[in-house]
Amino acid sequence: MIALRLAAKGHLEGETLVARLVEQHRDDGASFLGRDYQLMSQVDGWAYYIRDDHVITLRAKAEDLNGDVIMLPPNGSSAHRLIRANSQHNSLLITEQCDQLCIMCSQPPKAKHSDMFAAFMLACILAPQDAVIGITGGEPMLFKDQLFALMTQVYAERPDLTFHVLTNGQHFAPEDIELLKSSALSSVLWAIPVYSSDPETHDRIVGKIGAFEKLVETFELLSHTPAQIEVRTVIMQSNQAHLAGLANFLTTYIPFASQWSIMQMERIGYGRMNWGDEFFDTSTSFSAVARALCIAHGRGLEARLFNFPLCTVPSAYQRYAVASISDWKCKFEDFCEGCSLRDQCGGLFEWYDIGSGFKEIGHHEEP
Ligand code: SF4
Repeated sequence: MIALRLAAKGHLEGETLVARLVEQHRDDGASFLGRDYQLMSQVDGWAYYIRDDHVITLRAKAEDLNGDVIMLPPNGSSAHRLIRANSQHNSLLITEQCDQLCIMCSQPPKAKHSDMFAAFMLACILAPQDAVIGITGGEPMLFKDQLFALMTQVYAERPDLTFHVLTNGQHFAPEDIELLKSSALSSVLWAIPVYSSDPETHDRIVGKIGAFEKLVETFELLSHTPAQIEVRTVIMQSNQAHLAGLANFLTTYIPFASQWSIMQMERIGYGRMNWGDEFFDTSTSFSAVARALCIAHGRGLEARLFNFPLCTVPSAYQRYAVASISDWKCKFEDFCEGCSLRDQCGGLFEWYDIGSGFKEIGHHEEP
């Protein structure tokens, strides 16, 4: 697993430090912010970086960190890798608070919130050219005003960046329409989960009565904006029988959605707690997904499969599967050795458990 936190020394007294790590001096726009720390040396597994007279020390190989943006809180002994320059999977955790309690949540909500918007603003401005930055939580739209301000300010400085926001879709309001139409926000991709077209089933899955009705209002509102929408659906025992119905619903009522991501569960957080009841083994029963894909494809909605190892998907449907698992939490098992599909396969979550997962996995032809 790729470490997102590194043992660190050199925190500033009473101040959060956001810095970009460079091996050589750079003359790009970001360097003018005065946030570049240049590599001095590597000794015994520690990389030393300096700016003026201040030195920060990180337990990592410097070649893995070139161009990364890190944050060192004033107290503590670790640095957060906010942006990894060589990764396509950078995301900023806006908050761990949430107003839903989804039964498969991989990151169960916490009551405490720390406002990191100032650090995130700097991190975005220091990000590599054309980076796509994920915004996650918790529910990031609980801090909607700050989030909109962040994306608007970043756009003014770095119009090359794109945001992909994961939100439960419960917090859009009519007064947001004008801002959503602005240049700054019109390129944002909003990833919004819908688990069933049956309101009761959706509400039970997200642990909130009225959530589905609010989603319908949200989609109606977003239809008056240029907002790009990705609908997300985790397939589980609770909703697998509803998947074809959901395909009908989405293509009828949300024809402006740009993509539909059908996702396998992640065995962590509440997903792990409810795994026995909710994991739906698509390696042995794919027909619900197949029907949903056919309906979506036939009606022009681009559907994709997330977190489906290729060998668990019938070959006719493998073209829908994308390597969706973030690099830092992705693994391959011993049975992947010699697999002819490995280069296209997204692998497995780091916390995937062979004993309780897909029954039909790892059968592949030798190359
Ligand atoms: S054997 Fe491993 S690499 Fe091959 S398709 Fe399955 S999970 Fe992917």
